[in-house]
Amino acid sequence: MPPIRTEAIVLRSIPYRETSVLLDLFTQKLGRTRCVLKGVRVSPSRVAPAAFATGAHIDVVLYASRASALALAHAPRVISLCEPGGARLAAWHTLLHLVSTFTPDREPMPELFALLRDAPRALSAGQHPAAILFGIKLRFVRIMGYGVHLVGCTACGTRAGCVFFSGRRGGVLCVSCGRQEKSAVRTSARVVTLMRHFDGLSYDGLARIRHVPPALLREGNLLVNAVLQYHTDVPSQWWVHESNLFPAGGTGSRDAGG
Ligand SMILES: [Zn+2]
Repeated sequence: MPPIRTEAIVLRSIPYRETSVLLDLFTQKLGRTRCVLKGVRVSPSRVAPAAFATGAHIDVVLYASRASALALAHAPRVISLCEPGGARLAAWHTLLHLVSTFTPDREPMPELFALLRDAPRALSAGQHPAAILFGIKLRFVRIMGYGVHLVGCTACGTRAGCVFFSGRRGGVLCVSCGRQEKSAVRTSARVVTLMRHFDGLSYDGLARIRHVPPALLREGNLLVNAVLQYHTDVPSQWWVHESNLFPAGGTGSRDAGG
């Protein structure tokens, strides 16, 4: 393959051998690509450390061959850096981790690239990093083709009383189908309504959110995670570090409106 010049987001950056780094990139043209960037951990280096920092939006030349799972990265250049603090940074790293965990190797996904590229701006502009992450996650699941189906029972199609949810089915179920589906859990109409609302929001809409009842947001996030979990053999620990963004507590929502 000829060299490819592409924009990319650095999902992960790991020191490699004496002076190199291993990069997991989500690239505009090749999708998720693992590559090695040689001879940069020296002083002085011709490549700025920011150009291979986790979360950076870069421009890079890749030499990829079908024979090797490892591409060669050359001359990365920073387009923008995501440097928000606190919960915004935690949300951004959670998103990078999701993309790293669930996307296929070297499969171009331009819509997902755009989602990822624009996420730091939304996180910086917004007030509620966890809510923004939740909205992005819903869109991520949709781009991956896993759901989330929130209107009408995923088994029988009825639109009334869909208060069960199944990760395996990727969406809601009515009461009678939900009781027969082993993977289904009972949720509430309020949580389903919240998910529907978030599902339709643009980045501008997500950035304007100021408050979401924590218990509803936490439950909605768990349900979306259940959809992702069904499509992976990664141990469920992948979502453990999200608990700071979606803390337990507040009033219970489980029976409200259900
Ligand atoms: Zn049904």
